[in-house]
Amino acid sequence: MNKTPITSLGEFGLIDHLTRNIKQYDNGTIKGIGDDTAAIDAGDDLILLTKDLLVEGVHFNIMYTPLKHLGYKSIAVNLSDIYAMNGTPTQVIVGIAISSRYTVEALDEIYDGMKLACEKYKVDLVGGDTTSSVSGLFISVTAMGKVPKDKITYRSGAKANDLICVSGNLGGAYAGLLVLEREKEVFKANPQSQPDLNQFAYVLERQLKPEPRKDIVDLLMEKEIVPTSMIDISDGLASEILHICKSSGVGAVIYEEKIPVDVQTATVAHEFKIDPTTFALNGGEDYELLFTINQEDYDKISALEEIAVIGHITENPAQTDLISTSGNVITIRAQGWDSFREDS
Ligand code: ADP
Ligand code: MG
Repeated sequence: MNKTPITSLGEFGLIDHLTRNIKQYDNGTIKGIGDDTAAIDAGDDLILLTKDLLVEGVHFNIMYTPLKHLGYKSIAVNLSDIYAMNGTPTQVIVGIAISSRYTVEALDEIYDGMKLACEKYKVDLVGGDTTSSVSGLFISVTAMGKVPKDKITYRSGAKANDLICVSGNLGGAYAGLLVLEREKEVFKANPQSQPDLNQFAYVLERQLKPEPRKDIVDLLMEKEIVPTSMIDISDGLASEILHICKSSGVGAVIYEEKIPVDVQTATVAHEFKIDPTTFALNGGEDYELLFTINQEDYDKISALEEIAVIGHITENPAQTDLISTSGNVITIRAQGWDSFREDS
């Protein structure tokens, strides 16, 4: 019998394949697979539920990842998915698998980072599971949150003429990753080398210690804006805009010149002879929020520094265009992080 390699499907294809016949048995399941979190009926609120898994050698390299940051990030990336539903995170559960290479002190550092994230975002760590691993470290975090029913933002609510908005700036986490990988090679060649990484401090922090955008969710609440759709940017702008378009049955036009990129990100991009826009579109792990709003809400956000309007939604689902700074129309394709891609 012919066997199908996983690489023939890619990550999203594989998820679609595995989940194609999954039935739901509980009436309380309002949203199952297909958004940043699941949503479960809880009276006036919906309970939000999500999980992310970090694997040594795939999601982090222990050579240059401070363990405290790793613990922090493992919580942060899950909270980001709760915020992407316009929700408030409440509890997390932590599963770890550890190889014998790790010491108690190392695990303490990971937990210090987790506790710090829990303290900052006022989330309770309420359980988990601990086991050994044959090789490497695995951290699996499940996060729970809540949102009033009339405030939830799915990926599927974008409508024609809505404005497409993004928080913060994009591509920084990928810039940080490239700098770390470069320094790793330099260090391997010359273990005595003492790199000066100060000039890259911002992008390194974007990679190693991302902050989920609670402040943006709070700001939208304060401005009385409920986005028509929202997703967090874990795989790059291109991939996420396509998720919103596919889920909402709409198209999109975004303008390259409107995409926010920090100067340090642009500097690194130029050093690597890559277009900064490519970092923003296809780099991963920025954990910013991408959302759409009704045009009527434009005045409420136009002056906000942390939010950029980068384009608009169109009726035609076949249209996902990037208008380049020079005026060319380029079809947006997802090339984001695909763990199963053959060349990755
Ligand atoms: P995100 O990037 O927001 O974490 P993913 O792209 O990882 O979301 O997942 C997309 C959707 O598929 C989510 O609803 C997620 O819960 C679901 N999903 C991912 N992997 C699996 C799996 N192995 N089994 C069931 N559902 C999955
Ligand atoms: Mg997400």
